[in-house]
Amino acid sequence: MKGYADAHCDTAVKLFGRGEGLRRNGLHLDLERLSAFPGSLQVFALWLDPKYYPIALRQTMKYLTFYKSELERNKDLIRPVYTYEDLLKNQKEGRLSALLSLEGGEALEGETAVLEVFYELGVRMMTLTWNYRNQIADGVLDGETGGGLTPFGKRVIRKMEELGMAVDVSHLSDAGFYDVANMAKRPFLASHSNARAVCPHPRNLTDDQLRILKEIDGFVGLNFYPRFVAEKETVTQEDLLRQLYHLVEKAGEDHVGFGSDFDGIDTTPSDLRQVEDMAGFLARLEREFGRETAAKLRQENLTAALGRILK
Ligand SMILES: [Zn+2]
Repeated sequence: MKGYADAHCDTAVKLFGRGEGLRRNGLHLDLERLSAFPGSLQVFALWLDPKYYPIALRQTMKYLTFYKSELERNKDLIRPVYTYEDLLKNQKEGRLSALLSLEGGEALEGETAVLEVFYELGVRMMTLTWNYRNQIADGVLDGETGGGLTPFGKRVIRKMEELGMAVDVSHLSDAGFYDVANMAKRPFLASHSNARAVCPHPRNLTDDQLRILKEIDGFVGLNFYPRFVAEKETVTQEDLLRQLYHLVEKAGEDHVGFGSDFDGIDTTPSDLRQVEDMAGFLARLEREFGRETAAKLRQENLTAALGRILK
């Protein structure tokens, strides 16, 4: 089986405090099952439940320590990547790659100095907000206020670009998206968002936003969460493909990939319930899009986008 690249999962946080590890567990994703896809890249996001916002930095540090110890324990299966070269090397050797992301800038507690420390600790991507307003910007559920980036948020983006950290606009309000688009000097991405034209949910991107992601040579990762895929009770791979076709049409076949959201979602498509089901989905992708385009969607586009972003 070929490897793939996934721009978002919440597995590390979901495992925290459960007594199970990354190697083998009963969740959507573990390293033994991911090993069936050699050379794959998995982005691990550290998501914070809003109840932890008053202790955001401390709680994120606990997650980060757990994540690092899990990677150390499983270094025979997966290696952390900090640069594009690390990623290419792992792919070439058929080894799994892990890239660390923060989901929501709450953990910075309003200090760009904290961002620099996170970079030193290996963080290479950050979703600016979760669903609500924070020090950086407004999240999608506060979208009606029309708020975008704050002055601090702008400083954060400048610093992220300077460091070579991926700016992730998933969960960000529409106004925030355009603020990022207007000030960004480097490509940015939406790690786990779908097309609003196919499924009208505020977490999804408009056609105009997808056009901008194409224009700036960015990336958008297909989210598997049924509520973001289609307006139906049960969602299947068929519906994921409908999303993919639209994303490709608007963002271009060089800027689309996966952002599964595994272990961050309580329901999944009925025929894509966990990592091992990716085998069938990848085969389906190849039949639908042809070998060359399928390879881009499967792995090459996210890899290339990180090549444009990381330093
Ligand atoms: Zn998310």
